Amino acid sequence: MTMVFVETDPAGEVTLTSAEALTFARKTPQLLPDGGAATSREVSGPPSGSTEGVVIGPLSGAAIAALGRLGVSVIHHLDHPDLAEYSAAAWAQAIVDVAPESGTLLASGTPRGMELMAHAAVRTGARMAANVMAADEDGLLRQVHGGTAFERLRLDGDLQVLTIAGHACTPEETTPVTPEVYDYDLTVAEADLATRAQSTEVEAADDAAGLTSARAVVGAGRGVGSENGFAEVLELVDHLGGALGVSRVVTGLGWRPHAEQVGQTGSRISPDVYIACGISGAIQHMAGIEGAKTLVAINTDEEATMVQRADYAIIGDLHEVVGAVNEEIVRRRG
Ligand SMILES: Cc1cc2nc3c(=O)[nH]c(=O)nc-3n(C[C@H](O)[C@H](O)[C@H](O)COP(=O)(O)OP(=O)(O)OC[C@H]3O[C@@H](n4cnc5c(N)ncnc54)[C@H](O)[C@@H]3O)c2cc1C
Repeated sequence: MTMVFVETDPAGEVTLTSAEALTFARKTPQLLPDGGAATSREVSGPPSGSTEGVVIGPLSGAAIAALGRLGVSVIHHLDHPDLAEYSAAAWAQAIVDVAPESGTLLASGTPRGMELMAHAAVRTGARMAANVMAADEDGLLRQVHGGTAFERLRLDGDLQVLTIAGHACTPEETTPVTPEVYDYDLTVAEADLATRAQSTEVEAADDAAGLTSARAVVGAGRGVGSENGFAEVLELVDHLGGALGVSRVVTGLGWRPHAEQVGQTGSRISPDVYIACGISGAIQHMAGIEGAKTLVAINTDEEATMVQRADYAIIGDLHEVVGAVNEEIVRRRG
């Protein structure tokens, strides 16, 4: 059985990186060293399924439904007043309490996922590998040195603990299931609360980015390349007097704030024109731009859904194309 620690954002949504980790777990049967044989837990719980999720703290109906769409059949819901604020030791112990004795325990490779899995590995005595990209019959492949090198490794023991490198796979939904939710009567040891977060500050969720009222929105996706890749699109936003809208990959990577996200879990917009730069056109993104009157795509891939759905498409590198458009605007405006 593979159990995934699921992170939720302040709005209670399953985070993009957790959706990646869940997809990875579902699509990588090699993670099951014993072929998925039955396992036991510290505290009594449900029989083991194939992919299970662990959520700590509030669990919204939207998150349950999203987890169902990601193929999670069982949700272990760990809620306790002492777990309300993040505490690595206390959260990790709660996860360990419901974790299987054999199989795989994994999380996405976020700071929280890394910290919790490290604590969990120490507490269970399991072997751990961080930043895993793939798993096959030959073992695990993980990235090292910031992704410039790869390492093959095999973990001994019945339970392996992993973190999944960001973007090791693209989140993919599957035939929805209705997850069974199990709540637990937890005990939290005082010693595990020695280090815990004092408070959490949530960014304002209003239309700070001006997205819902803008008549022109320039969209930017993973294709911009890095957090320093927004210069041309921001200049175009400026020329058009519009707003910047981004894909969830962009907010998930921390390149831009969540307030700028467009889509199912971001803003739904209806500008006169939406110019999608380096955005593939995933269904969750398209859900946010259905109201756009004219759709323009700038993409290197002519097969991208966004290109196929656009009224106008330019096939090319967005930095070159948007840069050229900006130059032309400047030239015409004198
Ligand atoms: C529960 C759930 C909710 C979600 N909610 C949202 C949501 O609200 N909003 C959202 O956006 N996503 C959402 N997603 C994520 C969604 O499924 C996609 O992963 C995401 O939209 C993809 O972002 P992207 O198009 O930027 O990246 P990718 O899919 O990686 O696409 C990048 C594109 O850039 C192009 N490209 C690369 N380099 C260049 C270049 N130099 N010039 C031009 N083009 C280039 C590529 O050809 C590709 O088409 C959600 C997913 C889940 C599971």
